[in-house]
Amino acid sequence: MRIFTQVNTLHNYLNSYRKAGKTIGLVPTMGALHSGHLSLVAQAKRENDLVVCSIYVNPTQFNNPADLSTYPRTLKADRKLLKNAASDVLFVPTDEVMYPQETRLRFDFGALETVMEGKFRPGHFNGVGIVVSKLLHMVLPDAAYFGQKDLQQFAVIQQLIKDLSFNVRLVRCPTVREADGLAMSSRNARLSADERKIAPVLYRTLQWAKQWIGQIPVLEIQQVVAGQLANVPLLRLEYFEVVDSNTLLPVENLPTHSQISLCMAAYVGEIRLIDNVFLDET
Ligand code: AMP
Repeated sequence: MRIFTQVNTLHNYLNSYRKAGKTIGLVPTMGALHSGHLSLVAQAKRENDLVVCSIYVNPTQFNNPADLSTYPRTLKADRKLLKNAASDVLFVPTDEVMYPQETRLRFDFGALETVMEGKFRPGHFNGVGIVVSKLLHMVLPDAAYFGQKDLQQFAVIQQLIKDLSFNVRLVRCPTVREADGLAMSSRNARLSADERKIAPVLYRTLQWAKQWIGQIPVLEIQQVVAGQLANVPLLRLEYFEVVDSNTLLPVENLPTHSQISLCMAAYVGEIRLIDNVFLDET
C-alpha cells in the first residue's frame, strides 16, 4: 500500500493509473477504522481497479472543540487494517495540505442542514462540504463511498455533487453493526463498560418503532419512544425522526414517499451516537 501526505505526489501516482484507463474508488474517513469503514473499502475494491482511502480528522466539521481533541487517532493500527483490506493507496494529508489558509467557504444546503443533525451541530455540514469537495478535487475518483449510518451526510454530499457538477458516482453502503445491533462507530471505543451495555438500545428502539409505522400515527410513536428512552439511565435522546430518506424532511403522509427512514441521535454518557434504519430494509 502506497502512503501519501502531499497532493502533487498523490496526483502524479494516480495519473499514471488514470492514463492506463484504470478506475479509482475513494473512501474518505477520519480514521480509528473499524469493520464499517473496511466494508466501504471492500465495496470500493470490488467496483474499481484502485482504492484510495483517506484519513483526516477534519477540524472544520467539529462544532465541539472537546469532541475534536478527544477524537481517537490510531494511524498505526489503521495502516495495518487497510493493508490487510488490500487498500491500494492511503492518503493522510496534513492540516497545511488541507487548509493552506483559513477557509471562508460557506455552503448553503438549505433544509438538509437545518433538520436533525443540523439543529444540534451548527456548521458541521459546512465543514463536511468543504473537506469532501477538497478530497474529490485532490483524488478525482470515479466513485466515492460513504456509509448509510451518516444518512444526512450522504444527502448533503449528494446535493453538493450535483450543485458543483463533480464527475463522480456516489455510493451509499449499508451500516455495519456489532453482534448486539450497535452501529459500529469510532466513538464506541470511548464508551465505558456500562455505557457500552446501554448503547444498543438505539438500534433496538429503531427496530421496535419501525414495526408501528403505518399502524399508529408517527407523533404517537415519537412520544412512546421519548417516554421509553427517558427511563434509560445514562441516555439522553436528542431526536427521533421519521423522514423521507432523500429530503430528510419529516414524513406526514406515508404513501407519498418512496423511501422512509427512522433516524435517532442520543448521548450515552458523554458520547453522542447516531443511527438510522430504512423502513423497507430487512
Ligand atoms: P468517519 O470516519 O466516521 O467519518 O466515517 C467514514 C465513513 O465510514 C463515512 O462514510 C461513514 O458513514 C462510514 N461509516 C462509519 N461507520 C460505519 C458503519 N458502522 N457502517 C458502514 N459505514 C460506516
